[in-house]
Amino acid sequence: MKQNHSSNDIDFCALAQPGVRELNPYLPGKPISELERELGISNIIKLASNENPLGASPQAVAAARQALEEVELYPDANGYALKQKLMALHGVGMDQITLGNGSNDVLVLLAETFLAPGQNAVMSQYCFAVYPIATQATGADIRMVDALPESDPEMPLGHDLAAMLQAINEHTRLVFVANPNNPTGTGVDADALRRFIAAVPSDVIVVVDEAYTEYVDAAMRCDASKWLAAHDNLVVTRTFSKAYGLAGLRVGYALSHPQVADLLNRIRQPFNVNSMALAAAAAALDDDQFIAASRAMNAAGMQQLQQGCRELGLVTIPSRGNFVLVNMGGAAEPWYQQLLRSGVITRRVGNYGLPNHLRITIGTGDQNERLLDALQQIAAAGARAAHGS
Ligand SMILES: *Cc1c(COP(=O)(O)O)cnc(C)c1O
Repeated sequence: MKQNHSSNDIDFCALAQPGVRELNPYLPGKPISELERELGISNIIKLASNENPLGASPQAVAAARQALEEVELYPDANGYALKQKLMALHGVGMDQITLGNGSNDVLVLLAETFLAPGQNAVMSQYCFAVYPIATQATGADIRMVDALPESDPEMPLGHDLAAMLQAINEHTRLVFVANPNNPTGTGVDADALRRFIAAVPSDVIVVVDEAYTEYVDAAMRCDASKWLAAHDNLVVTRTFSKAYGLAGLRVGYALSHPQVADLLNRIRQPFNVNSMALAAAAAALDDDQFIAASRAMNAAGMQQLQQGCRELGLVTIPSRGNFVLVNMGGAAEPWYQQLLRSGVITRRVGNYGLPNHLRITIGTGDQNERLLDALQQIAAAGARAAHGS
């Protein structure tokens, strides 16, 4: 039974660290089970959290099952087997890798390691929500740099690297660049990013978050880990949650200078990555075919969604990821609610300062079609209502 808490005896908020007290919590996508409970409907599709509609590599799932057989044992705190694979993939030393319970974990470790009150982290407007949350939790300041305008011909809503460079001051310890960025899907070109990293003062750490890099078109793909040897202040983060389809297991990593990795590993919980996740991630790296299939399905779905939106008169932001930001031409909230009633979960981005947009994950061909059908019906109903019929 629920206990009755006597109210207002103690103001715990007043006791909390100021940075924590003022935090706006991360708003996750609505789980399918929650919508089922709320509306009593089934056959729901979730295009809200940039999950892989193909699932995960069967080899990765088999490896996780196998690891479950030894669940009574603590995981390998050093993640030796997974790190061996990552060393081969990236050409880095074992001492340059920090494993995380999702890459979210390593982003928080970076903030905890390098930020304190009086210091700041530079990031872009419309950047991934975890950067401001992790920064603010340390009591450090957020230096939010205006993104490029939605009317920008090259990269609407994208990171303005020149302005981000300008925003760095003597108190800056971290700069976050997501490539591609979530929720905008925008990506910076390799040359521009390399020039940016070279221009950042060497005692400011540049975090390049490559959560969606596997989805980027080969012509535009940019693997910042290649630059680690040339730039000691560079940190690259990757995840198994997106193209690898292992979001539920929670595993990601950071590649960095060995000294940075040593610091991150000091505050990392020794068993932050569980044994199923370690095993699945290592196996997933061997299944190139799965990644190729995911990439191909995404490219086709991206075309389908962008074209479908265009036919409905909705403007999309060019995206390099597995999701697309759609301008609904007015408040997105009614669209979001109507889509829920049709059993389609999308993501609102009002908390990012984008109340007129929805972020929609690319699904299977069938899922995309279902989304477009629902959008079309909502638009038609809206048009009928406007004409008073
Ligand atoms: C999803 C995402 C991540 C991290 O996700 P994890 O599941 O914690 O690895 C990191 N950065 C961006 C930009 C993302 O969209």
